[in-house]
Amino acid sequence: MVEKTCAACDCKLDEGSIKVKIGGKTVEVCCDECAQKLKEASSSSKRG
Ligand SMILES: [Zn+2]
Repeated sequence: MVEKTCAACDCKLDEGSIKVKIGGKTVEVCCDECAQKLKEASSSSKRG
């Protein structure tokens, strides 16, 4: 068994995890706040 962790804050994920698509990849986060962080990070890195 592989334990999943939040892509933003590295905390453990349970059944309440949120899937978010970043640059064509689907990652899982623990909460909506972390999803927003990832989205902002990815959009700011490919500006232009
Ligand atoms: Zn998180």
